[in-house]
Amino acid sequence: MKLLIPGPVSTDPAVRAALAQDIAPWDDDTRVMLARLRERVRALAGGVAGEHVALPLQGCGHFAVEAALRTFLPPGGRILVPMTGAYAQRLERLARESGRHPVLLPVPDGERVDEAALLAALEADPTLSHVALVYSETGTGVCQDAPRLAAAVGRLGRRVILDAVSAFGALPLDVSALPMLDAVCFTANKCLEGVAGVSFSVCQTERLRACVGQAGSWSLDLSDVHATAERNGAGSFRFTPPIQVLAALDVALDLHAAEGREQRLARYTANMRVVHEGVRALGLRPFLPEAVQGPVVVNVHAPEGAWSLNGFVAALKRRGFVISNFVNTTEPGFRVGCIGAITPEDMRQAVDAMGEALSELGLARAA
Ligand SMILES: *Cc1c(COP(=O)(O)O)cnc(C)c1O
Repeated sequence: MKLLIPGPVSTDPAVRAALAQDIAPWDDDTRVMLARLRERVRALAGGVAGEHVALPLQGCGHFAVEAALRTFLPPGGRILVPMTGAYAQRLERLARESGRHPVLLPVPDGERVDEAALLAALEADPTLSHVALVYSETGTGVCQDAPRLAAAVGRLGRRVILDAVSAFGALPLDVSALPMLDAVCFTANKCLEGVAGVSFSVCQTERLRACVGQAGSWSLDLSDVHATAERNGAGSFRFTPPIQVLAALDVALDLHAAEGREQRLARYTANMRVVHEGVRALGLRPFLPEAVQGPVVVNVHAPEGAWSLNGFVAALKRRGFVISNFVNTTEPGFRVGCIGAITPEDMRQAVDAMGEALSELGLARAA
């Protein structure tokens, strides 16, 4: 079964094999592995040793994003959130429920963030210390030019929290060139092609030290994660880690290094093109024009006729492919993830399966 969902993704058998072992988290050999893993993740982000750290946190992407908001914004702190879609809405809720003050910047559906509008909103409100940006909006499939937007925000003296959960490992990022980034948040189970259970934030040591004590949550305080690692060693972990998940990520990073970040992006982009062109050949309409379609997820409008997402999902599953059984768009349709250990050939077979599924369900099919 191939997972064509934008996370957790299909994984390589070697990654899954790393899960099948008992590991003592505090063992000296494990500490060596964990310390190395953190260095590898930092380096992948372009982080400079001594200036940047990769901070692992048990749990999923939301945990990392909430931890970043809590750590770098004081209670009541104001943060501008460009409303790019479902994941921007989640950022807004995480900020609000952790007692920070999100201010929303409307972004038309399926469009990129307008840099001029973003800067105008910041200039109009000097109390906005931060911007929270979703690099790859997994709701719509639109990706921002996050490095460029972050640099522009930085020129106004404001700071950025970047949700790079469905971007990191494929889309370009060099934190050493982006000092306005307080945190870049991501997980093991999207473009890094590991399994779910651990998230990371790449941060600056100086900022972590400056922000001690304002998180209002011990569990979600990145400054405390950093301070503890400084005290107990980079291979230590506060609280029990999902150690098999980390061992699997270590293998996934080997595969990432062998493939290369740019080649991985090229593969995902090729996957996306096969789906985008393939569904059009089936007479279906993707939500996004190719010009703004990112490489991570393709949303497709429901075909004419008696559409049932669950029926379509089940018909595809019988053919060996799992797509999401929910959509983040207001109009009916389906979404196909293009990331993970999958190739353009897999996507061609998936498009064939979609054609067969549509026929089976008696739904309109051109060509
Ligand atoms: C997947 C994802 C998240 C986090 O999801 P979790 O289920 O918490 O791991 C956050 N932001 C974006 C853009 C995502 O794609």
